[in-house]
Amino acid sequence: MPYVNKQANRKRVIIVGTGWAGSTLAGNLDDKKFKVTVVSPEDTTPYTPLLASAACGLYDFSIVETPIRHQNRDVRYIKARVEDVDFSAKTCKCVPAFDKLPETVASHFSLSYDHLVLAPGCTNNTFGTPGVAENAMFVRTARDAKAIQARIQDSFERASIPGLSGQEIRDILHFVIVGAGPTGVEISSELSDLFSHDYARLYPHIKKYARISIHDIAPNVLGGFDQQLQDYAMNSFDKRDVEVVTGSHIEKVDDKAIYTKELGRIPCGMVIWSTGNKVTSLAERLHCKKAEKGMPRLLTDNFLRLKGENGQVLPDVFALGDAADIEGSSLPTTAEVACQKANWLGAALNKDFDESTVNQFEYKQKAIVAYLGHSDGVIAGKGDYTGAEAWVAWRSKNFLWTRTWRQRVSVIVSWILDRLSGRTIAPK
Ligand SMILES: Cc1cc2nc3c(=O)[nH]c(=O)nc-3n(C[C@H](O)[C@H](O)[C@H](O)COP(=O)(O)OP(=O)(O)OC[C@H]3O[C@@H](n4cnc5c(N)ncnc54)[C@H](O)[C@@H]3O)c2cc1C
Repeated sequence: MPYVNKQANRKRVIIVGTGWAGSTLAGNLDDKKFKVTVVSPEDTTPYTPLLASAACGLYDFSIVETPIRHQNRDVRYIKARVEDVDFSAKTCKCVPAFDKLPETVASHFSLSYDHLVLAPGCTNNTFGTPGVAENAMFVRTARDAKAIQARIQDSFERASIPGLSGQEIRDILHFVIVGAGPTGVEISSELSDLFSHDYARLYPHIKKYARISIHDIAPNVLGGFDQQLQDYAMNSFDKRDVEVVTGSHIEKVDDKAIYTKELGRIPCGMVIWSTGNKVTSLAERLHCKKAEKGMPRLLTDNFLRLKGENGQVLPDVFALGDAADIEGSSLPTTAEVACQKANWLGAALNKDFDESTVNQFEYKQKAIVAYLGHSDGVIAGKGDYTGAEAWVAWRSKNFLWTRTWRQRVSVIVSWILDRLSGRTIAPK
């Protein structure tokens, strides 16, 4: 029988992005059938649902991201940014993602594919507000979460310098969160837990000055939740002295204050900006069909195949995660959707993707949980729950988002350590 080198016949799959969508798919594809190359400027996948807790010292940073190369599989990773795609030549133009390149390294290179999977996610939406990019902090990567932790501690040390007036301390210890969606609410809740327990013990001389405010342009918090749960969340914030300013138009941010149309200058020591998503420059640049309502996300059919400029299906190009939506539907930009799509696509490609034998993708809505601090929370979607039950569901979700036994053990150890000796305070 003639020798057939199966490895040589493997189809080349390029995955753009190492977020929930890209890394889940890379882990699912059959490496006997596919030669998988992942291209992304980030060599790790951040576990976004755990970032707010990590920033506030509940989890160790080693468990909130995993390296793409650690998947025990034959996956090639290239630290680069895809700048453009030529759909007819089936090539991606890539630029190495390093600040400084050695002279011997080309400034760009090209990769050919048989299947391309676009999963570049989204970026932070600042709505062009002056000063936000320079002065505010974001929560999207483990790096961001580390920076927030360091900045919180720096603020308390700065406020402890002798000779400051009460007003100066109050201003330094005013923490503003912009955006009252699940991420903004969660980070404010974690901050509130941190300040009322660990920081109250460490900084008893200034604890009375620490203040948290949430600003949102919308008339209510937790936009995707029903009115009853929104009211519950507002009450919960009231009880913990977290100020919520709705209908707040932020016009500018500098290093010492935010400026709103309604209230003018509001001094603060730190701003966390969490107002949602914007499409990436790659998604903007690609010549294909985009959503006309809301964010101009890439559009696919129900088999996650990208729609070309004229609405035609591009059979070898798929798009998923926050960057894409199915034409005619409006799925949320969540890890839940990203992972469900990546699992579906992995299974479909492994079965040699044939439209006549593969069922189209269908999203299964899961409950949405938001943590409100002090072991309280709200759950929407599967019968509305509030209070400790929601908190338990939220903690369970934290656990379920992890992917390795090492992470699961570390999550449980973190909960125990939190109860016994408090949170991690010193930034590493
Ligand atoms: C703090 C926070 C908490 C969250 N909590 C939850 C939660 O509890 N539940 C939930 O379901 N969802 C949650 N989400 C939403 C969830 O994280 C996103 O929906 C998910 O990350 C989307 O995955 P993705 O792979 O599409 O994009 P991303 O995770 O954003 O990854 C995109 C990847 O593409 C890379 N990339 C970008 N441009 C290029 C390019 N040109 N070339 C190559 N690579 C590129 C990026 O560097 C990145 O690696 C949360 C989000 C945040 C920020």
